[in-house]
Amino acid sequence: MQDRILPMKKIQKLLVANRGEIALRIMRSARELGIKTVAVFSEADRQALHVRFADEAVCIGPPPSAQSYLVMEKIIAAAKQTGADAIHPGYGFLSENEDFAALVRKEGLIFIGPSPESIELMGSKLAAKAAVAKFNVPLVPGTSEPISDLPKAKKIAAEIGYPILIKASAGGGGKGMRIVDAEPDFETQMERAVSEAKSAFGDGSVFIEKYVTQPRHIEFQIFGDQHGNVVHLFERECSIQRRHQKVIEEAPSSILTPELRKKMGEAAVNVARAANYYNAGTVEFIVDENLNFYFLEMNTRLQVEHPVTEEITGLDLVKLQIKVAEGEKLPFKQEDLTINGHAVEVRVYAEDPTNNFLPDIGTLKTYNRPQGHGIRVDDGFEQGMAVPFYYDPMIAKMICHDSTRERAIAKTIRAINEYTITGLETTLGFCKFVMQHQAFTSGNFDTKFVEKYFTPDVLKTQDDKDEELLSALLATLQPKETATLAPVENTKAVSNWKKNRT
Ligand code: ADP
Ligand code: ADP
Ligand code: MG
Repeated sequence: MQDRILPMKKIQKLLVANRGEIALRIMRSARELGIKTVAVFSEADRQALHVRFADEAVCIGPPPSAQSYLVMEKIIAAAKQTGADAIHPGYGFLSENEDFAALVRKEGLIFIGPSPESIELMGSKLAAKAAVAKFNVPLVPGTSEPISDLPKAKKIAAEIGYPILIKASAGGGGKGMRIVDAEPDFETQMERAVSEAKSAFGDGSVFIEKYVTQPRHIEFQIFGDQHGNVVHLFERECSIQRRHQKVIEEAPSSILTPELRKKMGEAAVNVARAANYYNAGTVEFIVDENLNFYFLEMNTRLQVEHPVTEEITGLDLVKLQIKVAEGEKLPFKQEDLTINGHAVEVRVYAEDPTNNFLPDIGTLKTYNRPQGHGIRVDDGFEQGMAVPFYYDPMIAKMICHDSTRERAIAKTIRAINEYTITGLETTLGFCKFVMQHQAFTSGNFDTKFVEKYFTPDVLKTQDDKDEELLSALLATLQPKETATLAPVENTKAVSNWKKNRT
């Protein structure tokens, strides 16, 4: 008992400071642990599923998140009002805000996540790089300080060698990054990067990194307790991205050998140690064509794509987060963990892939989820609901788990075919295109997949192909089976069957 940093305290009532699928996903695990749940919601989310699911719900203001989900004081007040003793921030919103984590603690509540100090350190990509360098974690070649002096920046860029990437130190969500292919573009791109960083993150600090031209994005799930134990829960391959943001993730990655997995896993654990980290976190790496890996950043929260890790490890990461926040030790050691099968997640966004993946907000006229063995859908919607324009346009995450990568892909295709959404455009057709593409199935792809292989007309061809397949199938049913499928006989058969049963 002596080594406990925080006294053991069982959580009785948990407030989830988030919305949509992640709020529901967190509440489900809390409920299984016998913990009461509190939802917060904006006026746009009055009818939302997370509000209906929770034991109690508190309205925290108008639809824009700056007036609701991002207002710390309102969330604390909702916790006080309902007698909640812990807050889970989910992802996005306040999840990586060290001031929020500190405020939650100051108010005597448990924050389900790492310490404010860890969040602050990792929230700055530059500070994070400096901290992990001491632990011999490989970094992308680049500057270790923010840079604003133009001639100096140009000189450094030339030394690193083009193409380079100008990045916002406070960046996130794929924003605040500018690729510069050659020196003549440097000045304008630098100006843009600084002004984008200022407006998006309130901090204009930028730095320069070597732009790795054909990288894979491979990240490690790490987990630490408050007693100094840290493990990794293997990797997730997240190279299928649009606008530097993930759309498809899988675990494990098809390119990691057991040796490389061990090496990267150890580096990930070292990153966590560099930040005195506890609770769930993700260490992101990029891997070049020669399988050299470099630390990108650490996300100090539960990740959108955490379910693929849950599927291959059999662990419930939210329950683990709660246990660790209560002061418990991790119930396993690194050597107890193994990978079971393969999982693929596709993110279903209300976006139009034929229109540059721009959000396509509207009402879900039809909404039918796929079902069956090994299929998990984490969503926050039902048929008839509107996807609000104020928030992230993700409708659902569909995760398929099977014994091998080939089977998980086949299952994903089957499930996409079964998933029916009408009323707005989604990324489902795009995800099916990826699942059937040779570059993806062979495992030989990188973050440039969309740029290299995707054009809007492939989706049209895909529809045509589906129609062709259907008519070919129907043709094989001719003429014998069409006779038995004739409307009159069919109706009769059904009504007879019904009669016999009653
Ligand atoms: P993941 O790596 O888990 O996929 P993302 O970087 O895609 O995470 O972001 C997860 C969520 O958080 C998304 O809803 C995204 O829009 C939001 N988000 C991430 N970083 C920021 C940021 N700095 N500012 C605003 N929203 C962010
Ligand atoms: P964010 O905080 O927005 O998630 P990251 O640093 O994690 O920012 O980068 C997001 C994505 O941008 C990565 O997944 C990768 O696809 C691409 N990226 C980032 N840094 C580099 C780099 N140095 N070279 C090539 N691609 C990069
Ligand atoms: Mg990232």
